[in-house]
Amino acid sequence: MNSESNKLSSEEETRMIDSAFEALLDGYIHSNHRQKTEVIKRAFAFARQAHQGVRRRSGEPYIMHPIAVATIVSQEIGLGSTSICSALLHDVVEDTDYTVEDIEAQFGGKVARIVDGLTKISGGIFADMTSTQAENVRKLLLTMGDDIRVVLIKMADRLHNMRTLASMPPQKQYKIAGETLYLYAPLAHRLGLFAIKTELEDLSFKYEHPEVYRQIEQKIASTATQRNQVFNHFAAPIRERLDQMGLRYEFKARVKSCYSIWKKMERKHVPFEEVYDLYAARIVFECPDDTREAGMCWDIYNAIAAAYPNKFHTGRLRDWVVNPKANGYRALHVTVMGPDGNWVEVQIRSQRMDDVDEHGLAAHWKYKIGSEAEDSALTGWLQTVQDILKNPEPNALDFLDTIKLNLFASEIQVFTPKGDLMRLPKDATVLDMAFTLHSEIGTHCIAGKVNHKLVPLSQRLNNGDQVEVLTSHSQQPKPEWEKFLVTARGKTRLRAALRHRRRAIINEGESKLRNWLMANGIEMNSDTLMRIVNTEHVAGKDELLFMIGNGEIAVSDQLLRKVRPQQSTSLLDRFWRNPFAPAKGKDGADAQQHDIDTREIYELRTTDGVSNYLIAPCCSPIPGDDVLGCIDDEGRVVVHKRECPTAMLLKAGQGGRLVQTTWAGTGRKFPASVYVEGIDRMGILQEIIYIISTNMAIYLRSLNIRADQGVFRCDLDVLIEDATVIANLCKRLKKVKGVGTAVRIN
Ligand code: MN
Repeated sequence: MNSESNKLSSEEETRMIDSAFEALLDGYIHSNHRQKTEVIKRAFAFARQAHQGVRRRSGEPYIMHPIAVATIVSQEIGLGSTSICSALLHDVVEDTDYTVEDIEAQFGGKVARIVDGLTKISGGIFADMTSTQAENVRKLLLTMGDDIRVVLIKMADRLHNMRTLASMPPQKQYKIAGETLYLYAPLAHRLGLFAIKTELEDLSFKYEHPEVYRQIEQKIASTATQRNQVFNHFAAPIRERLDQMGLRYEFKARVKSCYSIWKKMERKHVPFEEVYDLYAARIVFECPDDTREAGMCWDIYNAIAAAYPNKFHTGRLRDWVVNPKANGYRALHVTVMGPDGNWVEVQIRSQRMDDVDEHGLAAHWKYKIGSEAEDSALTGWLQTVQDILKNPEPNALDFLDTIKLNLFASEIQVFTPKGDLMRLPKDATVLDMAFTLHSEIGTHCIAGKVNHKLVPLSQRLNNGDQVEVLTSHSQQPKPEWEKFLVTARGKTRLRAALRHRRRAIINEGESKLRNWLMANGIEMNSDTLMRIVNTEHVAGKDELLFMIGNGEIAVSDQLLRKVRPQQSTSLLDRFWRNPFAPAKGKDGADAQQHDIDTREIYELRTTDGVSNYLIAPCCSPIPGDDVLGCIDDEGRVVVHKRECPTAMLLKAGQGGRLVQTTWAGTGRKFPASVYVEGIDRMGILQEIIYIISTNMAIYLRSLNIRADQGVFRCDLDVLIEDATVIANLCKRLKKVKGVGTAVRIN
């Protein structure tokens, strides 16, 4: 751009500013808001004077930017005088010597607080460090919780900056376009600002891929005539019927945006020509009586059905009229096979619904109707955001992921057993629903019932499912659950619960250890702790206390030796110098490791949490099982079950390495699995879990349930001391009404 030839005289500039402001005021006067032009005029005069003499990079007087932002706020988002004033003043505190107090003195607390919020988030989102970036996003969302108008005005600010991005140097263009696509476009989507979201995406795309953008734009233009013909051909029979009904309506073809066409080309790996559903059509009708809105949508649906009998795509009927999306979107979508053999999506909606779609929920304030469903949908989403912010992720990257997840998710609708509607993101699971209902329900969730069938907590839900969440007091949250969760709220709540639980177990371990040490006349100080940490080979103090609290490390007399090494007996001494020597050896201390005496019986023992043997992963034997040992290349005893196929092979090939073993007292717990099968009935799972956790105090590691046609199957992973415990468990499980099988499995 040649700035010389474009240079305006100062009178011309004044006229340009005045007429831009006149246009803003004119739009406002014609809106449904209460008419408060006086304060808007004052805000304009204040901002104009504050930015006096300052220019934007484009050479324009700076005040043109706040006017443009205020115009977007008023005409494209539909907000009122408080927001218009705040938009006019949004850069005053940031860029001039005026303070928030000055604004407050002139325009009152409401405007001052919004301008303050905007000033706080005026920096960019992207930063060199992830943590800074997370902090910036957090700040932005926090202000949103304070007053949603802050973020709406920020959207308008960003939109105007994107519209004028050409005057920025290229490296800044990339950064701003990247941020817009990363955060602002999804946020606009979530807030229901569909038109702004589309424009932000298109503008970002234009600066990030200028060449592709230009090509797509050109192709859209060159196919316009043909598309129009197809559309008119398609629309004619529908128009005829709508006219007969005496409706006042607009029937338009909709072209996808460059960005969404490009995304589809990328996602489906197809050229432009094959993105055939370029055409969607929209019928916007006038509806003088709000109570007739939904009925008229279906009247129009019937008209289309009459024009195109048997041409409906039954799987793609979407009724967002009765149950609007969380961002407030309402419309009836039908997909019809057009005369040229392509599917055409027709969106049916009233003038009011159309307005909400274009301008977001903010448009409701204009109408002052504020239907409860729509209000609570946005409030619900804001609540989720607050939730995430209240339980901050220690890891910045996790935090950003969580936020992104929440912004992008498309939704399904499910029902509670009482028939209440809930919105969840696509692919949400029973566990997601549980956490959405309440943290406590989530952490105690054991399974669910979808349409009255028992399903595991990992079950994905579908649109329209009726879902009951089953809980148990003894259930505890598990780290593995995270992979079953798609909702940001679920993930945040699970992580918080896990942190909380870990803390509780550590505290439990600490008091357990402290009491036990005290009983033995030893003070628990960091010295004592570190000695145990080192001999137990655990990661640190917290890890040690966690394992003690968890029962993975037992506080036994053997632990004493670690804190009082001088008390060790000569027998133990010998054992520790060569733990793999036969326990009944004549002089085990001097025995060679690989000098295998197959006549000896090896005693398998765990001393102070360290075992002198390894459990073969192929058959996972536990104390009480018939086992045999095999000395491996390092001289360690690997324990197999007698009937283990690997052990059979070893017997055949390496007989010389096999030794007999016997279980000595263990201070260790072993993983084992139980399979339960039976006739499904209400409450059976709770009973099973009650027996395991409460009755027998067995540590339950995981639970996997499948239910099919009244039969349920369940895999339990537990930690137990020996085989008798598991035999007892199976015996007791079989007594539960409905259970047919309860057996130990590998
Ligand atoms: Mn600005």
